[in-house]
Amino acid sequence: MQGLHIPQRTIMTPGPVEVHPRVRQAMSNRMLGQFDPAFTSIMDETMERIRQAFQTKNKWAFPVDGTSRAGIEAVMCSLIEPGDKVLIPIFGRFGHLMAEIAERSGAEVFRMHAEWGTVFDPEDVIAEIKKISPKIVGMIHGDTSTGRVQPLEAIGKACRSEDVLLVVDAVATITGMDFKTDDWCIDAVIGGTQKCLSVPSGLAPLTYNDRVEKVIAERKNIEQGLVQRERKPNPRRIHSNYFDLTQLQDYWSESRLNHHTEATHMIYGLHEGLQVVLEEGLEERFNRHRYHEQALTAGLEAMGLKLFGDPASKLTTVTCITIPEGIDGDQVRDFLLQQFGIEIASSFGPLQGKIWRIGTMGYSCRQGNVLQVLMGLEASLIYAGAAVHKGEAARAALDIYTKQIQPSLA
Ligand SMILES: *Cc1c(COP(=O)(O)O)cnc(C)c1O
Repeated sequence: MQGLHIPQRTIMTPGPVEVHPRVRQAMSNRMLGQFDPAFTSIMDETMERIRQAFQTKNKWAFPVDGTSRAGIEAVMCSLIEPGDKVLIPIFGRFGHLMAEIAERSGAEVFRMHAEWGTVFDPEDVIAEIKKISPKIVGMIHGDTSTGRVQPLEAIGKACRSEDVLLVVDAVATITGMDFKTDDWCIDAVIGGTQKCLSVPSGLAPLTYNDRVEKVIAERKNIEQGLVQRERKPNPRRIHSNYFDLTQLQDYWSESRLNHHTEATHMIYGLHEGLQVVLEEGLEERFNRHRYHEQALTAGLEAMGLKLFGDPASKLTTVTCITIPEGIDGDQVRDFLLQQFGIEIASSFGPLQGKIWRIGTMGYSCRQGNVLQVLMGLEASLIYAGAAVHKGEAARAALDIYTKQIQPSLA
């Protein structure tokens, strides 16, 4: 019999990323019962920290147990009744995921498509909203599959004035790039733990406003026969117990109505992860992500590599690189992992085999890691026979690291 052996790794993927040491420590604490006041006060503090991280005053802000898509599913299946119109503008893999979840919840889904590597002109989305009049618009803020970020403010304001609900997947950006839930008029936002928060995957922190609460409360009242809207034999019931936001919010409210058994250790981890974020400061954190992304991209370009996608909509948390002609992308990735212990990612669908993706997220987003991935990638490419400008990557990155002081340290 052998015990676990976990090798040393430098994780530079768009998630999961390296877990912050303080989070690992928080998660090794002893067990508490889920109704122990010592634990419920941790739950309340976690809610308050989620509000701050999501820049919202919403009453409801709590995590759903499960990975990020559990949060998307909870929001979608709680809001969508069979036949509801849902508009999903898709600019990468995660837009497809959201459309699939909406469809499985019974929605009539309308899709828009932007070429992968670009995002939508908000005016095009707004025109489509006016044409279709959906109940819900579902969008991705940062799509890690293509490394792009969608501007949301104008779309949020248009949704508000058209009385449409806007649900946003901010899994890849929350606490890594600016996300203003209230100012941008986003009705429901789902985040993730395993990206910029640097907590293991397994929780989906989310928030929603009173517009969403009203829709789900009305639905519940009809279901329970407290009010009647139409005479139908319960066609409106939320199909999921686990993801029913009305039950989850009762559990996260002062009444603490029993629902699931809370994953105490994940909550410890999230609580500490949010504490680390708020101690650093949101603005400082966004600047830190931009700073290391600049060093990374300067190094990659100096090496002679081409970045993929429209630079105007580039995420600072993910960098996509076109795999050079004649190079087997997966072979280079394997080599980098086996020889250097560094992990980077490939991509999906039309981009599979065409690009690599490097994440600069949360705790993984730091100087040592950026320099290591540049050095490791350069050596792996030389070993694979690629023509790169030797030594230039380090020089370009070090030019930034030695000449420009990291904003949060300035
Ligand atoms: C990584 C990511 C997810 C991940 O979903 P999981 O269920 O946690 O695997 C969802 N949406 C976006 C935009 C992501 O980048």
